Amino acid sequence: MIRVKQLSKSFGSNTVLRDIDLEVMPKEVVVLIGASGSGKSTLLRCLNALETAEKGEIWIEETPLLAKDTNIPKLRMEMGMVFQQFNLFPHMKVIDNITLAPIRVRGWTPEQARAKGMELLRKVGLETKADAYPASLSGGQSQRVAIARALAMEPKIMLFDEPTSALDPEMVGEVLAVMKTLAKEGMTMIVVTHEMGFAREVGDRIIFLDQGVLLEQGTPEEVFGNPRNERTKEFLSKVL
Ligand code: ATP
Ligand code: MG
Repeated sequence: MIRVKQLSKSFGSNTVLRDIDLEVMPKEVVVLIGASGSGKSTLLRCLNALETAEKGEIWIEETPLLAKDTNIPKLRMEMGMVFQQFNLFPHMKVIDNITLAPIRVRGWTPEQARAKGMELLRKVGLETKADAYPASLSGGQSQRVAIARALAMEPKIMLFDEPTSALDPEMVGEVLAVMKTLAKEGMTMIVVTHEMGFAREVGDRIIFLDQGVLLEQGTPEEVFGNPRNERTKEFLSKVL
């Protein structure tokens, strides 16, 4: 579904990703872990062309992302992204936050988009909030709306960059529960998180990035239970 070959990315003289090879299968849940500054966000951002890698190849299904004639907006429609900050439009009701892009970009009628939006709000447990404004929502509710908004475009892949890091602890669980449901339904997901319980339970594969290098990967049992690399051991000893 996603194939990355020998990907490197620098900001000036700072090499942030070094020769990353990565393959993500359909329906796979890949969890990216690593210390602050190890390149996790940059890797995600390269995958939907928010950053441009200077070396290497990225394939999203059959499309080479870095080829000059690739239609990036079209490709982005296939990938939903959820960030630490929810970035909801504050002047729009929850339902309009969700239906905006499908109406504008996918060309759905407002009725179609609203029906789909309500279905997604039910899925994330917020159907009663359709006509609320973002300012009236808690952090956990806002993030669930942000997930529904991303899903409204019917993406094939969901990218999550620390979706629970900005939340109060009591709201982390409700967002992780939505993500877990998505994973069970077979969504292909790449998730950057420090929630090791989620990584262990929901992740099919764990990838450890260290200073821009993909140092270790394996099943949760392999990486958490029996890390091979000293750097992985050291990192896990701090976060587990
Ligand atoms: P965190 O856990 O703190 O989110 P991360 O693993 O996501 O960290 P990145 O945000 O990918 O790390 O950053 C990797 C490196 O790239 C860091 O040294 C960071 O300072 C640098 N970097 C990221 N974005 C930019 C940018 N737009 N311009 C310059 N340097 C950047
Ligand atoms: Mg980051």
